[in-house]
Amino acid sequence: MKRVGVLALQGDFEAHSLALARAGAEPVLARTAADLANLDGLVIPGGESSTMLKLLELENLFEPLAGFGRLRPIFGTCAGAILLATDVTHPSQPSLGLMNMSVERNGYGRQIDSRVAHIEPAPEFEQRTHSGELEAVFIRAPIIRRVGPDAHVLASYQGDPVLVEQGRHLVATFHPELGSDSRVHDLFLSKL
Ligand code: GLN
Repeated sequence: MKRVGVLALQGDFEAHSLALARAGAEPVLARTAADLANLDGLVIPGGESSTMLKLLELENLFEPLAGFGRLRPIFGTCAGAILLATDVTHPSQPSLGLMNMSVERNGYGRQIDSRVAHIEPAPEFEQRTHSGELEAVFIRAPIIRRVGPDAHVLASYQGDPVLVEQGRHLVATFHPELGSDSRVHDLFLSKL
């Protein structure tokens, strides 16, 4: 069984642990650099990326996390996707730079900051999991404004990428851990 860490400093790490367990992995809450040892992969959950950054610095976890990501897959959702990006705007803030992409925080704005959308994934996503639309829960989500040449866009919403894979890493600007559809977690586990 794959051991998958869930960064548990802040945010909805409990929901990701349950989703990983449902998808057949062993979730391990990770709060220190030592907790990153012997993990097959890691999830960085949604929450508040600026708060997570402060906690990462406080715990001296920023560099160990970047080092982990140079060797093993990381799946970042929402705030986790922001932390993985190379460029963050609105406002700009430091990030791990493991995914070549630009993200704009809270890109959908205040008026419609949270919603549930039903989106058609890319054929590649359906081929690698199974077919059917995806229920995407957006909560003060970032918008991915640019992806690098090595990115695979696995789903888009209103023309913007919302599920992107680049090499060993995966990001979603929505919250697959909050629905009953386990395909996004299944896809991540298939990469470990
Ligand atoms: N708006 C949050 C941020 O900028 C992300 C929201 C989320 O993770 N649901 O970090």
